[in-house]
Amino acid sequence: MSGVFLVTGGSRGIGAAAARLAAERGYDVALTYICRKDAADAMVADIQRMGRRALAVQCDVADPVAIANAFDAVQRAFGRLDAFFNNAGILWPHSRFVDITAEQLSRTIAVNLSGPFHANQHAIRRMSTRFGGKGGAIVNMSSMAAKLGGAFECVDYAVSKGGIESMTIGLAKEHAAEGVRVNGVRPGIIETDIHASAGDPGRVARIASSVPIGRGGSAQEVAETVLWLCSPQASYVTGVTIDVAGGRGI
Ligand code: NAP
Repeated sequence: MSGVFLVTGGSRGIGAAAARLAAERGYDVALTYICRKDAADAMVADIQRMGRRALAVQCDVADPVAIANAFDAVQRAFGRLDAFFNNAGILWPHSRFVDITAEQLSRTIAVNLSGPFHANQHAIRRMSTRFGGKGGAIVNMSSMAAKLGGAFECVDYAVSKGGIESMTIGLAKEHAAEGVRVNGVRPGIIETDIHASAGDPGRVARIASSVPIGRGGSAQEVAETVLWLCSPQASYVTGVTIDVAGGRGI
């Protein structure tokens, strides 16, 4: 596979696994980060060692101007965009529904929903044949929380991911005839830093036994699904969000 793969939040976790796998599959890779320049630079060096071109761009996805600048930087560096993994997201420390503050709700929606919404507008403008593009694939990052509701922990997060799933359906229908396939992934409990960042480093171990497969998932396992959705092997797949959750939520 040749082409250019862009992932938001590609410095760590699932986004980093997808960036590495995309390079292995033959893509040049652009990734964004918000504050971990060290991790983003290390990813760029890894990808370059694999013989692919790589670019890291600082971008808070909550800022529509920063998103526009990131897409412009990719265009300047690579001149095309073939696959976009709309991945960056945040999770706050657990709160009961009534305790979620206005500030928390607004930041969750800005990063997890409005940001991905604006980013998709840029991706569509570059990929859609209606805008002179050559087509492409988008994968949006949801979460099993969208199905389960996030009760007692993160209803704000669940709501943001529910919005992502609606957007996936709408965009898939609106742009299917313009060469753009739009799908999503719905991970369950995956081993990344997000749980420690939300103040609960033991979350995966605690929940693992309740997952039908009996363990948390790896970032690599989610990345495999993302890269398949971007590939020609998924050429007739659009508008779906795929569980990568070891049976959680079924
Ligand atoms: P992670 O390990 O915490 O990585 C988060 C990534 O997003 C980092 O690259 C981080 O950049 C970047 N980021 C954070 N806030 C950002 C912002 N405002 N603008 C741009 N980039 C930002 O998280 P992860 O577990 O891989 O999560 C990735 C996605 O998967 C999220 O959307 C999350 O909701 C979703 N997800 C995760 C799980 C899970 O169990 N892990 C389950 C379901 C869904 P820096 O490195 O610069 O901080």
